[in-house]
Amino acid sequence: MKENRANVVIVGASHGGGEMASRLRQGGFTGSVALIGSEPYLPYHRPPLSKAFLAGETTTEQLLIRAPSVYADSKIDFHASTTVEAIDRKKHGLRLGSGETFGYDKLVLATGGRPRRLTIPGSELDGLHYMRSIADVNAMREVFVPGARLVIVGGGYIGLEVAAVAVKHGLIVEVVEFAPRVLARVAGPELSAFYETVHSKAGVRLRLSTGVEGFEPSSTNPAHVGAVRCSDGTRVAADFVLVAVGLVPNIELAAQAGLEIGNGVEVDEFCQTSDPDIFAIGDCTEFPLPYLGRRWRLESVPNAMEQARVAASVINGKPSAYAAIPWFWSDQYNLKLQAVGLSQHCDEVVIRPPRSPEGFVVFYLKESRMIAADCVNSILEFNAAKRLIADKLVLDPAALADPAVNLKSLLPAT
Ligand SMILES: Cc1cc2nc3c(=O)[nH]c(=O)nc-3n(C[C@H](O)[C@H](O)[C@H](O)COP(=O)(O)OP(=O)(O)OC[C@H]3O[C@@H](n4cnc5c(N)ncnc54)[C@H](O)[C@@H]3O)c2cc1C
Repeated sequence: MKENRANVVIVGASHGGGEMASRLRQGGFTGSVALIGSEPYLPYHRPPLSKAFLAGETTTEQLLIRAPSVYADSKIDFHASTTVEAIDRKKHGLRLGSGETFGYDKLVLATGGRPRRLTIPGSELDGLHYMRSIADVNAMREVFVPGARLVIVGGGYIGLEVAAVAVKHGLIVEVVEFAPRVLARVAGPELSAFYETVHSKAGVRLRLSTGVEGFEPSSTNPAHVGAVRCSDGTRVAADFVLVAVGLVPNIELAAQAGLEIGNGVEVDEFCQTSDPDIFAIGDCTEFPLPYLGRRWRLESVPNAMEQARVAASVINGKPSAYAAIPWFWSDQYNLKLQAVGLSQHCDEVVIRPPRSPEGFVVFYLKESRMIAADCVNSILEFNAAKRLIADKLVLDPAALADPAVNLKSLLPAT
């Protein structure tokens, strides 16, 4: 059996894994680096999958985060379409799907997550789609045509982004959401109401407080979905369905190797797992978020990049702990949402009148300090909010709500 080996082996070749390899080299790492990914592509931008790529405005090549030559030039040994099946911690080795082994000195798990699958009656029917990869979007292309009836299960960011692209493309779109408002898991009620209005005006039908009980076959093709059966007894006709009900972190490799697992692979502020030679980064990790003062698991590109920076700094001998305040963006129609911080623990909400009619700004405070902000088409407010949160200043809500007050004037002079 062939034995491969590298000083650092990274499992998962996406936002976290690709950034990790790059950061190692930028930090002066001269040892061998292998990047192993189960997808057939070099690391690519995942956010456009539900936006420009689905809309057909971006090609697969344009999705690549770095040009292929960058990996060769930086001596990053890339293994596409290769799945790691097991970790042997005692031997410092991996078992690949091909049966080959791969030795490491340091291992970085950047395995991300996969869409949560539904297991209700009819889930096995054809025509049910999920969205995490280029392959998932390509599988939907043929049916993503004007006039097709699309039912989206789940009114989170991915569901709503797909709804926006689909309705613009001439599909008939219905979103079925179990919670009483869209974005219930990630945003405050004010932002949910804003997006509900936007989508309704665009022609998306929203069914809130409605569960999905099962999928029914089409009358012309019993192997294919034809309708979605809802908890209120209604049946929504569908030519195809997108299930967008969240993510399951890929923790199995780590769990099987006996690493500590919480709501993800458990790591410390240096992205170190319970094994000193194994790091974990990105969507698959649960980690201490200093700004919140508690452990958390985040699904966002900026977080995967920050954790890659941290893990690389440790391997390069210049440890620098996780320090970022989480942020995220979402594009729907001509609206760019930029959200910073986590609003769940706020005790006061301040709405600031936006500068443009299509804008929206909401600040979340706790004990008079800003902990989060959701800014739609409001980059100046977003940039100011990032600093106001980081500086932990005591703020006057009336000043925040007053469009005549320049937010910069609330910041300490630099
Ligand atoms: C449709 C969509 C839209 C999004 N939009 C946004 C957005 O607007 N803004 C934002 O900040 N974030 C967005 N996200 C989330 C963002 O893409 C993720 O946070 C980010 O991709 C996390 O990167 P990661 O490297 O941790 O994991 P992933 O991107 O999930 O990558 C993990 C990789 O590891 C591979 N892998 C897993 N197990 C193995 C194994 N055993 N062996 C080999 N390879 C393995 C997987 O195949 C995958 O390629 C979006 C995600 C999706 C799906």
